[in-house]
Amino acid sequence: MQRKVRVRFAPSPTGPLHIGGVRTALYNYLFARQNGGDMLLRIEDTDSQRFVPGAEQYIIDSLAWLGIKIDEGVGHGGPHGPYRQSERRDIYREYTRRLLDDGKAYIAFDTPEELEAARAATPNFQYDASTRMNMRNSLSLPAEEVKRLLDAGEKYVVRFKVEPGRDVVVDDLIRGKVTINSSVLDDKVLYKSADDLPTYHLANIVDDHLMEITHVIRGEEWLPSAPLHVLLYEAFGWTDTAPRFVHLPLLLKPDGKGKLSKRDGDRLGFPVFPLEWHDPKTGAISAGYRESGYLPEAVVNFLALLGWNPGDDSEIMSVDELISRFDLAHCSKSGAKFDFEKGKWFNHKYLQEISDERLAEMFKPVMREHGVNPDDFSDEYIARAVGMVKGRINFVRDLWDHARFFFVAPETYDEKAVKKRWSEQMPEIMNELIGVLADLPSWKSAEAEPVVLQWIADKGYHLGNVMNAFRLTVVGECKGPHMFDITELMGPEETIRRISRGIETIKPQ
Ligand code: GLU
Repeated sequence: MQRKVRVRFAPSPTGPLHIGGVRTALYNYLFARQNGGDMLLRIEDTDSQRFVPGAEQYIIDSLAWLGIKIDEGVGHGGPHGPYRQSERRDIYREYTRRLLDDGKAYIAFDTPEELEAARAATPNFQYDASTRMNMRNSLSLPAEEVKRLLDAGEKYVVRFKVEPGRDVVVDDLIRGKVTINSSVLDDKVLYKSADDLPTYHLANIVDDHLMEITHVIRGEEWLPSAPLHVLLYEAFGWTDTAPRFVHLPLLLKPDGKGKLSKRDGDRLGFPVFPLEWHDPKTGAISAGYRESGYLPEAVVNFLALLGWNPGDDSEIMSVDELISRFDLAHCSKSGAKFDFEKGKWFNHKYLQEISDERLAEMFKPVMREHGVNPDDFSDEYIARAVGMVKGRINFVRDLWDHARFFFVAPETYDEKAVKKRWSEQMPEIMNELIGVLADLPSWKSAEAEPVVLQWIADKGYHLGNVMNAFRLTVVGECKGPHMFDITELMGPEETIRRISRGIETIKPQ
């Protein structure tokens, strides 16, 4: 019987979610939705040393911002809970016991100093079949001694007993079959009595089994752990229901080789985190995509194409299109270069797609930051203003530079333009223009324009000089959208007020 697809995103709350982790979550989500399956969020917090307060909430908030919906897990509940590994100690204790009882694992008492000494004595020391009998563990010590140490409350770990000389096959959906000889593996620690917690490996396998996970989709950095995981499924007798492995390609630096790091972002000026992160220890703030003005849809589209492509040149795809076209098996094996400029391009494109009304809402906080109260303008006015200039922006905050004149009359005038366009007789011509505008039967762009142009032609004025001088008084510089679209929106009163002010203040140079 075909099992229902169930995938999980299983981050460790050791800091802010990196953009590579976001892509992993997204691929899990796309695959789950495509197959009518479930997406779980499990928090792998068994490493208490690396626990960072706030990281879990950050992960939840990041997924919510991106629209990656969780069906089951931390913050959502579900029938396989708890979904935070630190709350599942009893379960791991039971499964550790099972491996011990079956002789698949053993107890080791070696102190950090003893391990250090072994490493110093043997080059490339590895705790495995070739060395374990020289160490202090339940295989090398007499049973009474083991009991005595346990009764005395001696600290111990439980190690997995790897049988040497076997071929272990990791069957990966992207990479195919990868074979590794078990002799290269060490007897990994599965459980530590000191904090009564399992290590990542045990908890991860037990939970994937109990939570009925069908596909483990995660970053390539976990591939080296996969042979051990295969052996663990086997040791528990779960091979038949073991999940399929899918190890996603690394995200690479935009320039040069190697894994994308936070430092690359700092160096080249782009965020590597979905949301702004405030480091609870140092107070340092790291930039986030959200705060940098990205639309979540754009980030999703951009990330989806880092490691997968639809096989043709489509680039702009809604999340629904991504869900239907995404193909896990055809993700690339080799790393995906993180092209930050492309990210900006996606944002630009998505900003063109959204409604002017939504863009206006996003622009309001930017207006406030610049000391302009959005309530002084109608929603329609703001929406039409941003609609006129949005073609020029990559980010919402860029709107300010292009649209500020709609909200604040110019106080200074571009000097170069003044020199070029504002001749001695320009104040007189602008006065005439006021007269022409005052008599206009309509302020509609298409109706006002021919009247003004006709007046310029009749008078034999220089079209470029007059129109640019007009623009200078209204905008403050010689750029911006079509002049008569601007004046249509601004209306006669404000337009004429600005021209008058220009006449008073601009001095020919
Ligand atoms: N806790 C691991 C992480 O932080 C999970 C790896 C996996 O998905 O198996 O990425």
